[in-house]
Amino acid sequence: MNLKKHPMVIAIDGTSASGKSTNAKLVAKALGYVYVDTGAMYRTLAWYCLQKHVDVREEKAVAAACRQWKAKLDCHVKDDLPSIRLLVEGYFPEKEIRTPETAAAVALVAAVPKVRDWMKKTQRDCIQFGNLVMEGRDIGTNVFPETDYKFYLDASLAERSARRAADGVHENLAARDQRDSQRAVAPLMIALGAVVVNNSGQTPNQTSGLIIAEIKKRLGEKR
Ligand code: C5P
Repeated sequence: MNLKKHPMVIAIDGTSASGKSTNAKLVAKALGYVYVDTGAMYRTLAWYCLQKHVDVREEKAVAAACRQWKAKLDCHVKDDLPSIRLLVEGYFPEKEIRTPETAAAVALVAAVPKVRDWMKKTQRDCIQFGNLVMEGRDIGTNVFPETDYKFYLDASLAERSARRAADGVHENLAARDQRDSQRAVAPLMIALGAVVVNNSGQTPNQTSGLIIAEIKKRLGEKR
């Protein structure tokens, strides 16, 4: 396989607070790939809608906001890791997208079909930056269904809630997961052929170690 001609995509999907970001970053660092947090992209649009006083329950209004906003992909290095982010009119809303208000709005925004079209195209465009470790909810099922490297992370609700609480975030994760799993377009589900990792009780090094070993095994088999 010629990696230059066909950049590799590692898809890591899963429930909220299942360790996707932590593990995707560790995997990207270990392999020297670019890290993409697609949840941050949806959060950025949710933040933008709130800024512009768009009613996030109004599908048409959210779709119009998505048509109008001037958001651009940017690759920057953070903590020694090349990462993709969305700049809105040149601005990166890093902290603003992690507020409870944004968290409450994001699953509504993410259920709008026009938003999902825009996100899929933009996320596929990330390939211009090289080999990717992309985390989200629909990467293996919808954004890069053609990749052979799909992982699905989960952990018990109690453990996931405790992880978020340790970060100072108290959120009804079950409600957000339910919204994400039940929407009509590109719902959260396990992609065909995905390796499912329930990481309750595991350390990030254990979980990312499993993922890295699986990727290396498959890469070895392809040679
Ligand atoms: O991963 P994170 O918790 O930041 O994702 C925020 C929200 O963005 C999810 O709850 C979901 O509604 C939406 N999302 C999505 N598809 C993705 C990534 C995130 O619908 N690929």
